[in-house]
Amino acid sequence: MVDLQTQYQRLKQEIDAGIAEVIASAAFIKGPKVAAFQQHLEAYTGAQHVIPVGNGTDALQIALMGLGLQRGDEVITPTFTFIATAEVVALLGLTPVVVDVEWETMNMDIDSLRRAITPRTKAIVPVHLFGQCANMEAIMQIAKEHHLYVVEDACQAIGAQYTFANGETKQAGTIGHVGCTSFFPSKNLGCYGDGGAIFTNDDTLAARMRAIANHGMVVRYHHDSVGVNSRLDSIQAAVLDAKLPHLNAFIAARQQAAAYYDRAFAGCDKLLIPGHEPQSTHVYHQYTLRVIGADRDTLRERLAEKGIPAMVYYPIPLHQQKAYRDTRYKDGDFPVAERLAGCVLSLPMHTELDEEQLEYICSEVLRMLNR
Ligand SMILES: *Cc1c(COP(=O)(O)O)cnc(C)c1O
Repeated sequence: MVDLQTQYQRLKQEIDAGIAEVIASAAFIKGPKVAAFQQHLEAYTGAQHVIPVGNGTDALQIALMGLGLQRGDEVITPTFTFIATAEVVALLGLTPVVVDVEWETMNMDIDSLRRAITPRTKAIVPVHLFGQCANMEAIMQIAKEHHLYVVEDACQAIGAQYTFANGETKQAGTIGHVGCTSFFPSKNLGCYGDGGAIFTNDDTLAARMRAIANHGMVVRYHHDSVGVNSRLDSIQAAVLDAKLPHLNAFIAARQQAAAYYDRAFAGCDKLLIPGHEPQSTHVYHQYTLRVIGADRDTLRERLAEKGIPAMVYYPIPLHQQKAYRDTRYKDGDFPVAERLAGCVLSLPMHTELDEEQLEYICSEVLRMLNR
């Protein structure tokens, strides 16, 4: 699905030099590499504050802790997402409320969102699934009307650009009150272990979240709030700082591969290519087809026999997961998410795909469907 080895070989000098520098300095935690990467990421995203943390799930948890929500407060997330989005809500004793997604973009459905708001709703967590932003114009408007916080789960969408109707363009993660991203190795900006970051333009929230990520501490050994221990370590920061200048090229390579897939599959009536959110660019963390005229799992198995990996992100929506089964929801409540779970198939997507590989993948997919 991803080819991190080839990418490493291309960037080896810069990455090795950064790691060697950290080892030589022995500043493994909160060293100058972390500060440098933080600054470079602030410049890249336009976020006033970047708070590096241990991983994307921690970023989401610390963001929700920073908002000072109370037990029982409702937080709305799409039901079609990676589990982390709702997990942190449940862990904090907040109530996850799930909504359906759109068939075309697979992102949060706005009508479903409107219907889910109650007097207990405190925050919306839109997920920019697979690399394109949710309908942030509508989400920010609804949040304003109902005085809700917006925490973007931008774990799959770093570098995606969203343009508002007034012409203003912002990056994924810098639109809501808080944004979260992950540097998990396979993410668009991946490190060589775990890593994540929080974005915000709010000085007060930034200070609070920075303290929470550091045991609730501002002055050493004075703990003002209950916090956690969540740090991006210096070696990961060195890898990320070496990769960040290449992020736009990484995105362009993914977009080129996606355009190749789009062209190859556009005329096939058994597949639907990814739909687009008109106001967002797509950075293709995943290239996800909807298989509508064939059995998705059979296609996946046949591709595997030909050495082509394909993955199902995600096979079970949140409201049907055992841990999140809830008397409030029953099968059929979120028909689009349930249909997507049965038909989505993600093809290999990374920065190193060449024409020969793309041609092989596309011709095998089409050959199997036309058998
Ligand atoms: C990867 C991911 C996360 C979690 O990130 P980790 O760094 O693995 O904790 C959360 N939400 C979404 C949508 C993700 O893709």
